[in-house]
Amino acid sequence: MQILKALLWQPGAGARKGIIAASLALALGVGYLHTLAGLAYEFHVLFVFPVLVTAWFVSARAGYGMSLLAATEWFIADRLLAGQQTDPLPLLFNIGMRLVIFVGWVWLLDEMRRVLQRESRLAREDELTQLPNRREFYERGRAAFSQAQRLSSPSTVVFFDLDKFKYVNDELGHEVGDQLLAKVAAVMRLHVRASDVAGRLGGDEFALVLPNMDAAAAMPYVEELRQRLLAAMSEHGWGVTFSIGVASYHVTPLDFDTALTQADALMYEVKNGGRNRILQRIF
Ligand code: GH3
Ligand code: MG
Repeated sequence: MQILKALLWQPGAGARKGIIAASLALALGVGYLHTLAGLAYEFHVLFVFPVLVTAWFVSARAGYGMSLLAATEWFIADRLLAGQQTDPLPLLFNIGMRLVIFVGWVWLLDEMRRVLQRESRLAREDELTQLPNRREFYERGRAAFSQAQRLSSPSTVVFFDLDKFKYVNDELGHEVGDQLLAKVAAVMRLHVRASDVAGRLGGDEFALVLPNMDAAAAMPYVEELRQRLLAAMSEHGWGVTFSIGVASYHVTPLDFDTALTQADALMYEVKNGGRNRILQRIF
């Protein structure tokens, strides 16, 4: 996992410049070393290294540029070693072959990085709503809880399920149902604070972790979210409402999973009591 994290590191502008500068220096250094060592030594791996690093961490375009530079430099070093009198044709042929290999590597790495990024994103994110999926939500929720617990600060967990969502699917079609779920996620995203964690737990179930939010602050916060969600529904003529369970803690407990179960149980109380309401309990 640590390796995957390192591989998916996305350097900022400064770090990218640093990588390009280091790769350039390495390519030049390798070229110089090659002229010292002589033709008997194989330098392919050393020339390809800066190309690969640049392609992976900077961009495919920078990788192609570095390919050209490394191949040219290699050609110059070979030419110096072979002497000016020798036929340059085989050397030019070699530079062409090396360029093909370098460019092939850059293309392959670019494709691999894209696939890896996509897979890694899909493992954490719900594709329809782009919210954290169940697994990612639990992970982030647990992290937020353990931080708030260390500070002995309050926290709130919100769990909600859409009411009569199946009717939208049945009457307007599954695609409209999908649009509705995406709209719910969009409203949530606009409403939450940077430190909050929002997620789609599956189907028409969503949840929020509100670190450092006490019971008194949570109620108006969740009520406003509910009003925004209802406004978005009626804007589209969707007759969906929201059953919401809110578990608030004076002091954040260590066990996030139990807190989420408590919020879920409150949501079920709302469902059983006629839906379309918020039920809060303070622990
Ligand atoms: P209740 O008021 O009791 O919550 O009933 P409900 O109609 O909202 O239905 P329920 O919560 O029991 O079930 C959720 C439904 O959501 C079941 C499933 O057909 C539908 N669903 C689950 N995932 C998706 C999805 O990704 N897209 C669409 N369009 N529908 C989904
Ligand atoms: Mg439902």
